[in-house]
Amino acid sequence: MSTQPGTVIIGAGQAGLACAAELRRRKYDRPVTLIGAETALPYQRPPLSKAYLSGEMPANRLWLKPEAFYPAAGIECLLNTAATAIDREAREVVLADGRRIAFEHCVIATGGEARIPPIPGANLPGVQVLRTFAEADRLSAALENASSLAVIGAGYIGLEVAASARKRGLAVTVLEAAERPMARTASPILGGWFGAVHRGYGVDLRVSTPVASILEREGKAGGVVLADGEIVEADSILLAAGLALNTGLAEAAGLECADGILVDPSCRTSDPNILACGDVARFDSALYGRSIRLESVQNAIEQGKAAAATIAGEPATHDPVPWFWSDQYELKLQIAGLIEGADLKVRRGDPELGNFSVFHMKDGRIIACEAVNSAPEFMAAQKLIRSGKTVDPEALRNLDVAMRDLLA
Ligand code: FAD
Repeated sequence: MSTQPGTVIIGAGQAGLACAAELRRRKYDRPVTLIGAETALPYQRPPLSKAYLSGEMPANRLWLKPEAFYPAAGIECLLNTAATAIDREAREVVLADGRRIAFEHCVIATGGEARIPPIPGANLPGVQVLRTFAEADRLSAALENASSLAVIGAGYIGLEVAASARKRGLAVTVLEAAERPMARTASPILGGWFGAVHRGYGVDLRVSTPVASILEREGKAGGVVLADGEIVEADSILLAAGLALNTGLAEAAGLECADGILVDPSCRTSDPNILACGDVARFDSALYGRSIRLESVQNAIEQGKAAAATIAGEPATHDPVPWFWSDQYELKLQIAGLIEGADLKVRRGDPELGNFSVFHMKDGRIIACEAVNSAPEFMAAQKLIRSGKTVDPEALRNLDVAMRDLLA
């Protein structure tokens, strides 16, 4: 292997690992260094709020690759190691202990951290957040000793944790300031339906309910005070208020950022030797005609691979049909595409029966599909979104018309 400076990847998460592994698959022959601030080997985050938290998945199934993979692939993995700066002039990444690693290409795959909203009491001991493996273990230990949980925020993570905590037998209250659950990413039909499902499982789900503060009892969090003064008692509290992006290194290095590090379709930042991928990267979607940033496993993997292709000399065009999933109770929600901008919504299937889809259409074409326990609809939607084919809404609504016939 060449001893020339190679690729230094900052962030040993889903996107960083995808990039490192793809470089080796492409026979890239320079050093590959993967720098990770966490102590754990790269792992999958989705189970942290789902099967891992409910106790149905052991920790050893979280690792994305076995420990032996890294030396065998020639990937130097520096864990428990934070990068503190990118010296663009010297083309070196600076580590917290002062070491410097020279690079030909640097990849920023730093994701983000759980956002702490500006609520008085949010930093009290006992207030949990969930982004990392260590935080999942802390949350799990807190739930072990608790009988009730208050979740602040009814996005995917908040609702998934609510479902896992119900499985563990806790009384759960979910507090959401918006008028429906999953308001940022899902349609009103779907958000309302999931809200009803949670209530059916015994969750006290309250929407249009802003939180004023977190109550202190004996030096730690002991409940939640609502804007109208009501106190919600809870012996464990989770803040599930979205992501704070780790763009600090990029900003300090003078790279262009605007709610994410701006990258082109080949994942290059405003410095062509520095690339970015995963949750932290914002790119122009040709498919949707606007700038987007995605927080999903699919995007992290595909953009990580696209960055590797660029470094290996075959610039890729990262323009995915976004997709995402969420598991809550026995329900599998799969979302393809982005729902904003639709001029028609078409429902297929019966929500009462627990499997249905909502198709979002614009100018006769499908731009997104929210599918509940409906894998064929989800898979067909991915293809229809990509093809841009016009679809007859009546045929789409009609369960007697198979999805494969709409693809033909
Ligand atoms: P991350 O996985 O966050 O990795 C970034 C890494 O960079 C972190 O380990 C961080 O410590 C490290 N880092 C940051 N700064 C530095 C630094 N200066 N030096 C060194 N290292 C640094 N997506 C789905 O598609 N479906 C789901 O069901 C789903 N469920 C989820 C459930 C939970 C609880 C969470 C937290 C996320 C979920 N996601 C889901 C989102 C998905 O996990 C993310 O989109 C994905 O992990 C993004 O990968 P990434 O590599 O961009 O960032």
